[in-house]
Amino acid sequence: MKLFKNETLSKNGELMKFFKLSDFDYTNKRVIVRTGFDIPFDDNGNITDDSRIRKIMPSLKYLLKKNAKIIIISHNGRPKGKYIAKLSMEKVGKRLSKLLKQKVTTLDDCIGNSVRQSIEEMSSGNIILLENLRFHKEEKSKDKAQRDQFGKELASYADYYVNEAFANAHRKHASMTSIPQYIPSCAGLLLEQELKTMGKVIHSPKKPYIAIIGGKKADKIEVINNLLGKVNKILLGGVLANTFLKAKGYNIGKSLYDKETVNFAKKLLKERKIILPSDVAVGDKYKNNAHKKNVSIDDIPNGWTALDIGKKTANTYCKLLKGAKTIVFFGTMGAFELTKFSYGTKQLLKAMASSSADTILGGGDSAASADKFRLENKMTHVSTGGGASLALFSGKELSSVKALEDNYKKYRNKI
Ligand code: ADP
Ligand code: MG
Repeated sequence: MKLFKNETLSKNGELMKFFKLSDFDYTNKRVIVRTGFDIPFDDNGNITDDSRIRKIMPSLKYLLKKNAKIIIISHNGRPKGKYIAKLSMEKVGKRLSKLLKQKVTTLDDCIGNSVRQSIEEMSSGNIILLENLRFHKEEKSKDKAQRDQFGKELASYADYYVNEAFANAHRKHASMTSIPQYIPSCAGLLLEQELKTMGKVIHSPKKPYIAIIGGKKADKIEVINNLLGKVNKILLGGVLANTFLKAKGYNIGKSLYDKETVNFAKKLLKERKIILPSDVAVGDKYKNNAHKKNVSIDDIPNGWTALDIGKKTANTYCKLLKGAKTIVFFGTMGAFELTKFSYGTKQLLKAMASSSADTILGGGDSAASADKFRLENKMTHVSTGGGASLALFSGKELSSVKALEDNYKKYRNKI
């Protein structure tokens, strides 16, 4: 299908129309760029992975070349509306400055008179990074009016808005869905590329189509239901699999699982497309020097923790992947950061890498695991968003993309 300017193919083959980065004239204009600088830090407060910054460099460099005044906004972690020093954007600003080889000023808030004043004093080519949006509860408020008020204030600092936060694209947060109500808004280069690449696969996935879902984010379970109608099989691993094992009545020892979704998992147990591990690798602690045992799922010892799928399960899953023509991977099969418990994740990623199927991998940790085993370049697409790509693959509309579409309708005759 030939696509025209401003059209992107997405879920169910529908066309999405929104402004692209190249649609606006940024000369001397203030541009607010919503990024996903939700960067992992180690215990000493050092950044452990800056790929989320590096991946959006093309959009920032484009705006710099066009002489924009760049105002970057982002969330980091879950501060729940309060200032938390270790979630400050300051270190992110320093790393960004190093990567761009230019000054980046990090402000100590994201809203208010002193922020407005600093923005008014900007010259073209300047970059300001505002403080963590989630230090204000309005960003994630359930009350739309509150979100809109916050978003309107942020929008008033700029002439244009760029959404470059794919990982957050499914969230109805003020910086994602409210700002585009007030100023001309477009998709950043990475967001556009994510939607385009995945859109093609979602539109006409080749069968057999297998989804591998793991990791620990409990909200993944909500979209499994929608995926069932589209895929041939869903292979489960990680904390998510533990929740299903718990739902099935197994003793899972001290394994992590999600209490709130056990009942939901119970309802899904009858679905024959969902495949659970038959064995797991357990450890006596969450450490690389833990004792490790491979046990059947009905033999998990008290006090031990399931930290990976077992050898037999990894084999079975790899065999199931053999004939697949589309494979999507959202969430690791275990605590892959601990090399001792990375076997399942590594085996599945290797199977994907050597497969001729369309292979899509989504999520911060999933991407990090592919990177760890140097298999990232062997995939069709590695997405920066786990929840967002999973939502997209299950046929859900991404709220912030909808906001960009509405923005296009509002401003298309005015730009
Ligand atoms: P993504 O970032 O790819 O969306 P998640 O954030 O949902 O994935 O989950 C990845 C995290 O889950 C990793 O940090 C991994 O260590 C953890 N994890 C996976 N399985 C287990 C397990 N069995 N026990 C503890 N942690 C696990
Ligand atoms: Mg994660």
